[in-house]
Amino acid sequence: MENKIKKVYIETLGCQMNKSDSERILAILSHFNYEETLEPKEADLLIVNTCSIRQLSEEKAYSRLGVWGKWKTQEGKKIKIALCGCLPQHTKENLMARFPYLDLAFGTQNIYELPDLINKEERVWAIRNSYVPEKDYGYIRKKDVNAWLPITEGCNNFCSYCIVPFTRGREHSRPFDTIIKEAKEIVAEGFKEITLLGQNVDSYGKDLEGKPTLAALLREIDKIEGKFRIRFVTSYPTDITDELIETVANSKKVSRYFHIPMQSGDTRVLKAMNRRYTREEYGDIVRRIREKIPEVIITSDFIVGFPSETEEEFERTLTAIDEFGINYSNIASYSPRPHTKAAKMVDEFIPEEEKDRRFQILNDKVKETSLKNHKSCVDKVFEVLIDSKKGDECKARTTCNKIVYFKSDKEIGDFANVKITSADTWHLKAEEV
Ligand code: SF4
Repeated sequence: MENKIKKVYIETLGCQMNKSDSERILAILSHFNYEETLEPKEADLLIVNTCSIRQLSEEKAYSRLGVWGKWKTQEGKKIKIALCGCLPQHTKENLMARFPYLDLAFGTQNIYELPDLINKEERVWAIRNSYVPEKDYGYIRKKDVNAWLPITEGCNNFCSYCIVPFTRGREHSRPFDTIIKEAKEIVAEGFKEITLLGQNVDSYGKDLEGKPTLAALLREIDKIEGKFRIRFVTSYPTDITDELIETVANSKKVSRYFHIPMQSGDTRVLKAMNRRYTREEYGDIVRRIREKIPEVIITSDFIVGFPSETEEEFERTLTAIDEFGINYSNIASYSPRPHTKAAKMVDEFIPEEEKDRRFQILNDKVKETSLKNHKSCVDKVFEVLIDSKKGDECKARTTCNKIVYFKSDKEIGDFANVKITSADTWHLKAEEV
């Protein structure tokens, strides 16, 4: 009975880094007799891995705890309930008092303490603010085409709206050799795409001896035998070096794709956001990339309705998209987060309905540019990677992450060459050639 396998269910909210953390948690727990279940009602241990970027994600986590708490207190299920990730890392609220059925809460820096924490009889609140060097438990990666490979964690930038430095801590890089070893394992396991992950991937290695760079990592991973793609997210504009651009241009496997959040097209707003570049400097980085890699796709993130943003300043975001040829952007309406400087600019908050209006206008702009960009692909041939399939209808992605639908008898994980036949705002249709 002692060795009975226990089941763990993890609900992951938020970004790719959280998904990757959940894979680490599963790997650690697998050394302690746990295996994953996708059915929460079957689980002995239920974990919600939380996100704090928006208030909405926090509410989702609380609601999940509420449901599981009922199973435990009203239905008498013998389960252990845990909360981890960014929410317990930054909250000042006593969540153990608010959720009396919560057994364990641990922060983003406490994942490697899990073997000690998980078997404690008493309720545990384990939050540490400093980085502890990792132990090699590996990852249990979701069977997929793409594998996430974290290379840095945390951030030193303190953008005035962002909670990440308070939830993920100061920036630290994972050892170069560990990353290369894991990249080789990922390829050997049959994944067809490796995405290097970090809040700020371009500053990889600044805290390591010898200061290895992201470019050096990419060159080393590029040499691994086999057919696969390499991607990296997220880039901070002024940390993109000529060495990195040169490396992407000359590599065989690295996608010709940069995700470079601009956040605002206006220099005054950028300063208020504590972003360390002007509109012109952002444009200069994009121009340098395009000079070396003409076929590159550049995508961005923008925040609308940052406190004090005027109509004129908002319009400069719209013109930036055209001026710098940004192919696609994610948009978020500003929402105040605890601990951040911008959250204190209450007198300058933009009313909700005005933020919604600006969101809509920017969204229309993003749709327009996406469609224009997609139309320019018609009749061209691309190599795509199939990541799902229904019948003979394949859903695949180009190296620049455009979604393409086409019919084929190829399988998930196969590469195919396709000719684009028609364009929509969010996807392309194609035929195999
Ligand atoms: S660069 Fe800015 S927005 Fe990105 S994680 Fe760091 S503080 Fe947040």
